[in-house]
Amino acid sequence: MSVLALKEIQDSLGAAKVRPKGHVPVRNWTDSSGKEPVEPLALVLPTTVEEISTILAICHRHAQPVVTQGGLTGLAGGAHPSGGEIAISLERMSGIEEIDPSSATLTALAGTPLQVIQDAAASASFICPIDLGARGSCTIGGNVATNAGGNQVLRYGMTRKSVLGLEVVLADGTVVRNLNKMIKNNAGYDWTQLFIGSEGTLGIITRVTLALQPMLHDIRGALIAVDSTTDAISLLRSLQRALPAGLLVFEAMWREFYEIATTTLGIEPPLECGHDLYLLVEAPSAAGLENALEDCLATLLESGSVRDGVVAKSEADRRRFWALRESVYEYHRHFPPGVGFDISLPLDLMNDAIAALRSQLPRAFPGAVWVAFGHLADSNIHLDVIPREMTPETYSEIERVVYDLTGSFKGSISAEHGIGQLKRRYLDRSRAAPELALMKTLKSTLDPSNMLNRGRVI
Ligand SMILES: Cc1cc2nc3c(=O)[nH]c(=O)nc-3n(C[C@H](O)[C@H](O)[C@H](O)COP(=O)(O)OP(=O)(O)OC[C@H]3O[C@@H](n4cnc5c(N)ncnc54)[C@H](O)[C@@H]3O)c2cc1C
Repeated sequence: MSVLALKEIQDSLGAAKVRPKGHVPVRNWTDSSGKEPVEPLALVLPTTVEEISTILAICHRHAQPVVTQGGLTGLAGGAHPSGGEIAISLERMSGIEEIDPSSATLTALAGTPLQVIQDAAASASFICPIDLGARGSCTIGGNVATNAGGNQVLRYGMTRKSVLGLEVVLADGTVVRNLNKMIKNNAGYDWTQLFIGSEGTLGIITRVTLALQPMLHDIRGALIAVDSTTDAISLLRSLQRALPAGLLVFEAMWREFYEIATTTLGIEPPLECGHDLYLLVEAPSAAGLENALEDCLATLLESGSVRDGVVAKSEADRRRFWALRESVYEYHRHFPPGVGFDISLPLDLMNDAIAALRSQLPRAFPGAVWVAFGHLADSNIHLDVIPREMTPETYSEIERVVYDLTGSFKGSISAEHGIGQLKRRYLDRSRAAPELALMKTLKSTLDPSNMLNRGRVI
């Protein structure tokens, strides 16, 4: 059956757009999840939405499973292929189609790298509200499919909040298009929302219309040390009240993270080690930030809630603070692979959850290295746990301990990276049975033969 499907695809698209097994570039054998690479049955490289429609119509007729690949930066194994799947890569479907300054919107093909979109928005004096560490490689289609979060969620929300219109190809090849540019459009169900965060399980996104935001000037940063997560949240609310133009970034690095960054990784510490939590804060308007920070520091230093702080005096300082936060991408050079987590915890319980992690992890995994950092204001913590010795059993046990703890604090097992293949068996820690049943109904309605990203999410 798969041979027939492949032959039909080759006949329709031409051999140049199809790489059969044995000729699939190694890059397409995996994503960034760390899963063992697997060569798919074939790689298809369409250049138009019509070609994607043709491929899916053929696969639908033959019940041939497919996996959609964007920039392959996903961390949950969603784009990681299995040996029986045809991988459909969007890498040749790249380009900005329109920037509309009146509507403040940008429309692009789904395979366009995020960085290209950010640069195009900036050249028209706008900001693309989506930003994440993988910006150079990830695609806007992948960002929408995963409802990506990132560094600016506090101000602009998750990707979902910036998507105004979509074009999607359904499992049977039907093209559904609504490249809406209007803020208000309540004409019936907003079906586009279904596909945002669906991780390629409901359809292939081919075009995206984004709402852009006004360019921000003079962004200033500060690094602040506090004594507890509770104090960090008080500081967040104080700054939000005090800053005239609001906050842009409020990133947290707990002490275990800061110590590794400034010792093992050798980054010069802007503030001395030993505090419980370090916050990277950014806001537009230097004066606003400096004044508010001074006011807050005065009050909070007096009450003992803020321990220390330094405001970036230059772009170089700002980059230095970010080097600390992004140092986690250097871990692979210094540590063996660990288990990475992307959890959400309700802010009112976060202090207790961190305390529980601090007591449970060393007890359960003596000698393990672990760090916590992330987008605190969005209730999102990233956690890396590196045990002394990694075995499949240790890996599962670390997952169990962290996800059980997350569930017990009413948190989410995926704040932003998605479920993919890696977290599928833990989905019930964060979703109730009726929710899972509704998800299954949606999946079987839109993809009755379960051919799109089979074995991911649900
Ligand atoms: C260094 C680094 C930093 C990161 N930082 C963040 C962060 O701050 N916040 C965050 O949320 N994520 C982050 N990520 C994870 C990742 O970058 C995001 O999930 C990103 O949105 C994935 O985009 P992609 O194009 O690489 O998708 P892929 O990895 O190719 O695919 C991801 C999923 O989306 C599906 N998919 C891809 N394209 C389409 C499409 N056109 N239509 C339908 N389905 C599709 C795939 O099948 C898969 O299930 C980071 C990853 C790295 C490596």
